[in-house]
Amino acid sequence: MTAKRKADSQVPAEESDLLLIRPLGAGQEVGRSCIMLEFKGKKIMLDCGIHPGLSGMDALPFVDLVEADEIDLLLISHFHLDHCGALPWFLQKTSFKGRCFMTHATKAIYRWLLSDYIKVSNIATEQMLYTEADLETSMDKVETINFHEEKDVFGIKFWAYNAGHVLGAAMFMIEIAGVKILYTGDFSRQEDRHLMAAEIPNVHPDVLITESTYGTHIHEKREERESRFTALVHDIVNRGGRCLIPVFALGRAQELLLILDEYWSQHPELHDIPIYYASSLAKKCMAVYQTYVNAMNDKIRRQIAINNPFVFRHISNLKGIDHFEDIGPCVVMASPGMMQSGLSRELFESWCTDSKNGVIIAGYCVEGTLAKTILSEPEEITTMSGQKLPLKMSVDYISFSAHTDYQQTSEFVRILKPPHVVLVHGEQNEMSRLKAALQREYEDDPNTKMELHNPRNTVAVELYFRGEKTAKVMGTLAMEKPKPGHKLSGILVKRNFNYHMLAACDLSKYTDMSMSQVMQRQSIHYSGGLPVLRHLLTQVAGNVEAVDEKKMRVFQNVELTLDDKVVTLEWIANPVNDMYADTVLAAVLQAEMLEAAPSFFPIQAKMDRMHFKECLIEMLQEMFGEDSVPKIFKGEKLYVTVDGKKANIDLLNLEVCCEDDEVFQQIVQTAVLNASVFLSHGLKMVHPRPVKDRATKTTYLLVKQSILFLVYPFKLAVLTAFRPDEFRSILSAVPTVRLSQRDSYFVFWMSNIQSIVPKPDYPEGAPPGPTSEAGEDALHATSGTSLSIQAPNKKDTSPLLSTEVTTANSEYETMKCCNGERIYKD
Ligand SMILES: [Zn+2]
Ligand SMILES: [Zn+2]
Repeated sequence: MTAKRKADSQVPAEESDLLLIRPLGAGQEVGRSCIMLEFKGKKIMLDCGIHPGLSGMDALPFVDLVEADEIDLLLISHFHLDHCGALPWFLQKTSFKGRCFMTHATKAIYRWLLSDYIKVSNIATEQMLYTEADLETSMDKVETINFHEEKDVFGIKFWAYNAGHVLGAAMFMIEIAGVKILYTGDFSRQEDRHLMAAEIPNVHPDVLITESTYGTHIHEKREERESRFTALVHDIVNRGGRCLIPVFALGRAQELLLILDEYWSQHPELHDIPIYYASSLAKKCMAVYQTYVNAMNDKIRRQIAINNPFVFRHISNLKGIDHFEDIGPCVVMASPGMMQSGLSRELFESWCTDSKNGVIIAGYCVEGTLAKTILSEPEEITTMSGQKLPLKMSVDYISFSAHTDYQQTSEFVRILKPPHVVLVHGEQNEMSRLKAALQREYEDDPNTKMELHNPRNTVAVELYFRGEKTAKVMGTLAMEKPKPGHKLSGILVKRNFNYHMLAACDLSKYTDMSMSQVMQRQSIHYSGGLPVLRHLLTQVAGNVEAVDEKKMRVFQNVELTLDDKVVTLEWIANPVNDMYADTVLAAVLQAEMLEAAPSFFPIQAKMDRMHFKECLIEMLQEMFGEDSVPKIFKGEKLYVTVDGKKANIDLLNLEVCCEDDEVFQQIVQTAVLNASVFLSHGLKMVHPRPVKDRATKTTYLLVKQSILFLVYPFKLAVLTAFRPDEFRSILSAVPTVRLSQRDSYFVFWMSNIQSIVPKPDYPEGAPPGPTSEAGEDALHATSGTSLSIQAPNKKDTSPLLSTEVTTANSEYETMKCCNGERIYKD
């Protein structure tokens, strides 16, 4: 497990192909719906309900398994407490800072329902998850979404479909990096008196997360159950009894009211028997229902235009038990639906001992609630005050809950054909029966590959979605039609899982990024004269342009100013210019080493030409591979071949020429010049071993260049051209470079240290910090703040400059050398 996690963590979450679906609630149970989706570094929570059979913190989903502040998006499917009851708590009491959405109707009803839930909850204040004030403040954090309106939050696309079930109930389609997941919430494909059937999405999801409340049951026909219901109510009141219908304040209640009102109109003999709708929310709810008429079905919409069916003729509202005169037969619809507490519970306790009375359970009952308990017809029940009462009243169950049944689910799955189905919101047995039944449907179907999952709470379903990665070429780069074999280069921009390739100059046009240049400046102490310096620079660079009295331009790009014994180099940072600048810097150091202006030039005379040739060949072989340089050559002409491109080197004037590739010419030219300067310095060259893992030719070249930088002092600026992680892999690919002494130095290139203070002066002769074990190495990197160069035949260590690194921001590093006191003496 640990090993696996380790392997996973090496891939950044946003690049991983792993999709995790983890129920924190509603996994093999009904209640506290809460499902976590994790994909491509995005985290989404679907619903945040409470378990109606539990109270206080116990009723919450297993939210302690997630970091609330890492969740990007929270979607609420509908207003039932098992889907939204924990939302005010989650919004107010956790570190969640993502965005939360529900439909307009859900938000309007949710507000009143939760307020009612807070009032009727029969638990101690300290156990309450939230107060009315918490609910009130949390409302601002809830955003609304229209059906079929597409939203985009941090690259997560989502939209809602009508789910039937209750007013405002939504199914959500969520799309991340092209992978689509449909979460049904609770849904019903059967149209009833006021709600439309759930829609069938016109796009096929890759994963379907569906409720499985009714498992493999098939609902009785709507007409049949309606007449069974009205007959039962009629029977109870006829025998002089009181009929209790515990209902959830909203949703099914409206459907049952429509049925009863119609039945009473057709039966004048019942007119003196009152029907009460006992909900403090009744008025508010009716207002909401009339507001959201558009979310209902055509039948209701048409009816409302003529005669509002929600203005009932035979039903009166009842505010509470105090307003109720209990004098004879009546029908009372009261919340809550599962009689955990509140008015339905109070009426039940006062009526349950009389066999004339009857209770009709009209919806799904969760384990642990009184409604579920009495369905098993116990002899006695326990009241809220702990008293035992005999259960004499009749108990009947007629399911009006608008949940999908097996027929509907099977049809829904058959149309959508999702490769993966994840079952939630169902008791363990119902769920496994549904899983088996669906599996059986497709076992002989070679054309349909469907995997079914029924995860337990906290256990994640792991699915892999490997997507082809393509980049769209835009702007200047797209002007020319691509030809086969044609290579493009540009900047790869990634946004919301889309890749675009742009020319650097188009960056500000298509993105909110802009291109910036990093100006590099190095200052170094120089006590010699300008003519010596100019001469040496001409030796290495050929042409030296005089800008003004004090300023020269070398290699066309590096400006050099001599002012009061300080030479300042300035150039625009890029790998090539950086190399040029380093060459110039080496020349300045060389000029400084000459005690006085020598009476004769050139100093190349000092260089052992044979040794130079050997070193150069070896270096080129290291850079471009052994076969790049001919084994035997005559005279002063040498060439190097890479990828069929040939660069000719004139060893007399150190000129390099490559007609095919200017960049290649520059690389070789700089290498040749560097070798020359280096050797004429009397410094020894250190050759790294070839790099083993050559990914592509290009990176191979870059890697090779960086190896040069490692062995050459003052080349380190070039490393800024690499990202720290690239640099790390370069380091690990070079086995011969001793890192023990240098690690500390390189570390500050990898991390963003604000500044490194130059080393203080130290007594003559004392080595600056630990010296490299490789005593012969030309380069010593010390404690990370200063560099020193050691000529092999001289005993002294001469710190020529100290380095101060200042980090402008996290992306760019500029390097500045202070004019360190020169203490080297011959
Ligand atoms: Zn529901
Ligand atoms: Zn539910």
